[in-house]
Amino acid sequence: MAVVTRFAPSPTGRLHVGNIRTALHNQLWARQNDGRFLLRIDDTDAERSEERFVDAIRADLDWLGLTPDGEERQSMRFASYQARFDALVAAGRVYPAYETAQELDLKRKVQAGRGLPPVYDRVALALSDVERARLGADGVRPHWRFRLDHDAPIEWDDLVRGPQRFDPTTMSDPVVRRADGSWLYMLPSAIDDVDMAVSHVVRGEDHVSNTALQLQMFAAMGAMPPAFAHSALLTGAEGKLSKRLGSLGVDHFREAGIEPEAVRALLARLGTSDPVEPIVDAEALVASFDFGRFGRAPARFDEAELAGINARIVHQLPFERVSGQLPAAMSEAEWLAVRPNLRTVVEAADWWGVIEGPVAGAIAEEDRAYLADAARVAGTVDWTNDPWAALTGELKVETGRKGRALFMPLRLALTGREHGPDMATLLPLIGRERAVARLSA
Ligand code: GLU
Repeated sequence: MAVVTRFAPSPTGRLHVGNIRTALHNQLWARQNDGRFLLRIDDTDAERSEERFVDAIRADLDWLGLTPDGEERQSMRFASYQARFDALVAAGRVYPAYETAQELDLKRKVQAGRGLPPVYDRVALALSDVERARLGADGVRPHWRFRLDHDAPIEWDDLVRGPQRFDPTTMSDPVVRRADGSWLYMLPSAIDDVDMAVSHVVRGEDHVSNTALQLQMFAAMGAMPPAFAHSALLTGAEGKLSKRLGSLGVDHFREAGIEPEAVRALLARLGTSDPVEPIVDAEALVASFDFGRFGRAPARFDEAELAGINARIVHQLPFERVSGQLPAAMSEAEWLAVRPNLRTVVEAADWWGVIEGPVAGAIAEEDRAYLADAARVAGTVDWTNDPWAALTGELKVETGRKGRALFMPLRLALTGREHGPDMATLLPLIGRERAVARLSA
């Protein structure tokens, strides 16, 4: 079976970390199975959908390295929905209903008062042709419901949640189309999954009960249902469903210096029994992805954990990957020298400034003579092979200094800071001329 997955956001806002995780899981599964990963824009709701969000979704996916293999738009597919709808109406699986929102509300209140579940009572299904014709003549336009088959339980084996079972008699026949002819999410999504030969529907567990309804829609259309994987939801670091998660997206990550590799590495593993590892190689992430490793407990998204993974990712990134984010004149050797000290790529510019200078460190009075010696030695030692070892070796013999007293004044004078990249890597990049000048300053 050819694997086809789809990520189906509604363009009513920016992608947030929860959507991004869903997109990633869809992409990883498709890649692992040499399948196709589709972007489906769920824009049936013309009022709430905005073109700028469609553009933003595409741009965000590109930045994340999750560029889809194809794109579909629900707003371009109304003719297909109409055809399937007509067939389902003709087959008696979709029926008109005439209750107003207020009437339905009242019914639910009465049911609640009697301690009954708020399941639609199917009064509209019992209307005769004559009654329907009369309502039509009175100008009442129906909305449309999908008639659930009550004969058997709805069952599937979820790739994340395991065996699932729903009793259709406890569920309302879902409304699939409004009285104004507009479509609700449920049926178009199932039609798309059939027409686009989607093999795996990968989404959040907030859609589990929709799956029960949609499985009956696949059957009513005479189609084989896809497989389903519903991941547990994300919570904030504090373990609660957090509002903040809804606002964490690509813009925020970029501003925080988070690289797409870090987002992918974290979100591929969050909620699984496997450790989160700083995996840069997209192929390695694909190879290790497994729905069976995901648990049913909510997964905690922690920004501090992401920042930590990001640092470990940055330490591995090759020059070609980051050169566009570095000062134009920064060399590969300079990148490799400072990389182990970074938490984000932008911090490299800072260290590059240290290499290029000027630098200024507070030099203690008692170190002045020592640094004058250092400047003289730096002017004469063999610079071709490990000048730092040569410089400190000679100074040690000459001055009797060792440890911190030997190294720290040099680091301070040469870089203006007490901490930083390995001096053995840094000093050749600073070069003899600048080093002598800084030591004698
Ligand atoms: N547009 C729906 C959503 O964002 C898609 C759900 C689905 O994957 O079927 O929730």
